[in-house]
Amino acid sequence: MKVGLLSGPGKVAVEERPDPAPGPGEVIVELAACGVCGTDLEKAKGSYRATQVIGHEAVGTVAALGPGVSGLSVGARVFAHHHVPCYACPACHAGAYTYCPSYSKTNLDPGGFAEKFRVPAVNVNRGAILPLASAVGWDEGTLIEPAGCALTALRGVGLSPGASVLVLGLGPVGILYARLARTLGAGWIGGADLSSLRRSAAGRRGVDAVADAKNAEKVRQLVQLATNGRGVDLAVVATSASAAVGLGMSLVRRGGTVNLFGLPEAGSHLDEDLQSLYLRGVRVIPSYATTERDLAEVHALLAAKRLEVRDLVSHHLPIDKLPEAFQLASQPEKALRVVVTGPAFGE
Ligand SMILES: [Zn+2]
Ligand SMILES: [Zn+2]
Repeated sequence: MKVGLLSGPGKVAVEERPDPAPGPGEVIVELAACGVCGTDLEKAKGSYRATQVIGHEAVGTVAALGPGVSGLSVGARVFAHHHVPCYACPACHAGAYTYCPSYSKTNLDPGGFAEKFRVPAVNVNRGAILPLASAVGWDEGTLIEPAGCALTALRGVGLSPGASVLVLGLGPVGILYARLARTLGAGWIGGADLSSLRRSAAGRRGVDAVADAKNAEKVRQLVQLATNGRGVDLAVVATSASAAVGLGMSLVRRGGTVNLFGLPEAGSHLDEDLQSLYLRGVRVIPSYATTERDLAEVHALLAAKRLEVRDLVSHHLPIDKLPEAFQLASQPEKALRVVVTGPAFGE
């Protein structure tokens, strides 16, 4: 089978490997589709400190079940989540599941960009395999994980009905965040990005007003106009650009929240006036990754057509074109979400 892997700094390659066989409690999935996420691009650049496995938005059909697996059948269409918490440590007991020390140590093998991949028993046991409703297509399935991350973040910040939201960074995940916030009852939603392709996709659905992020003053005017000069209730930083964090902090209202949602560049720092943050009561809340509960809820919203995401997939490339897929995904003026397809895509 073909497998896409990191092959060196700035490089991904496709290798031939033997098909995996399932051990006890394990599930083998034949790949239909897997999105190329911003974190995959960061890993390829060598600027991501956690796992080096690529591909975590994978959907496909169950190809084989190991001894002891129940409740699934060969041929079932599924989403497979790559990380699961232990549900037993202090972080898990506090409900901070994605910060569980064992969370990012679990993973699909050899990753989501493989014609077949193994879902370890620990993932299967903890509910990482989600059967897909027939109303949820493969493209939508690849967006379950990023939308789950957005839902976990929105729960974390406690979005209140009618809240005004500013999304800084309108990549597919920033747009998903905006659309989900809309579904959950947000009021005015504004957004900013450098890419005109992304701004128009955001403006199509979910975002009420967009500005070019190149001009911070324009973004400020957008917010001032919409909020009578008060600032937004919630600013979401859905980009790795650290300047957006400071901009978000300056554009939330007194007592407002900045959600650190996009992966910050490794080694990036923030130079902020702490007294101003203190006196304005700005809350900064990071949110990393998602949980099985939120993934299931996002899937239910997709199945009920309460969340529309399909238009966010702009390109499909077969797995043997993985290097081209990464190239394309790193050009925000050309592509929204690039999806890599496998043998089960036509099914
Ligand atoms: Zn992702
Ligand atoms: Zn834990």
